[in-house]
Amino acid sequence: MLEISFLTLFPEVFSAFLSSSLLGKAQAQGLVRYSPIQIRDFSQDKHRTVDDTPYGGGEGMLLKADVLYAAWKSATQGAPVRTVLLSPQGRKFDQTLAKELSKESRLIFVCGHYEGVDERFIEKCVDLEVSIGDYILTGGEMAALVMADAITRLLPGVVGNERSITQDSLENGLLKYPQYTRPRVFEGMEVPEVLLSGDHGAIEKWRNSQMLERTARKRPDLMAAYQAGKSESPGRKSPK
Ligand code: SAM
Repeated sequence: MLEISFLTLFPEVFSAFLSSSLLGKAQAQGLVRYSPIQIRDFSQDKHRTVDDTPYGGGEGMLLKADVLYAAWKSATQGAPVRTVLLSPQGRKFDQTLAKELSKESRLIFVCGHYEGVDERFIEKCVDLEVSIGDYILTGGEMAALVMADAITRLLPGVVGNERSITQDSLENGLLKYPQYTRPRVFEGMEVPEVLLSGDHGAIEKWRNSQMLERTARKRPDLMAAYQAGKSESPGRKSPK
């Protein structure tokens, strides 16, 4: 069981997403537990202040270190818990990091807001800063949900057919082959003949060649990395 706590000023944005589809099912089955925690509940003053202006001047407001620290301490319950700050300055999130984090038993995601977070909270409590891409969001909530989704689907038992995970794009460093379902002809476009042949060897060969072709075309960066580390055929796992 993986427990993910989210420190946030907007706990309400989590519920619809985390209770839907596979994530909701995973939670109902006890494979994961999500706990959104309202940072404001840990403010000590009567206005429940969570932010303040930056020392030295500058734009916007910062989340206060003391309030965040109180929320974080409550979430850890005194145990060491891998703490991730969502931040555009962090390590870029990818499938490798999702796999690494899916092996933890507890995680805390800290969602920044406004101009960001007092640096001393980061120094004291944060193990890892993670970005979901080179753009600026208004807050870390969407980024935390992206991470929670990618991590949860890697937990054993969450995706019914584990093979569908190992066959995903990026799992072996390549993009997945194109896929088709009924009808056989759509707007004049036919399903590739080989997929109707029943010849499993030919289908695997076609799929492997499609993976290589589309990775080279759509993601030359991935193709270069794959070729640098390649020692097996695309249908199998390639070493990183
Ligand atoms: N002033 C900050 C800076 O320049 O680094 C950006 C603050 S941003 C407006 C507010 C919050 O959104 C951040 O503290 C972070 O938690 C979250 N955030 C913004 N972009 C993000 C990204 N690409 N990945 C992860 N979190 C992000």
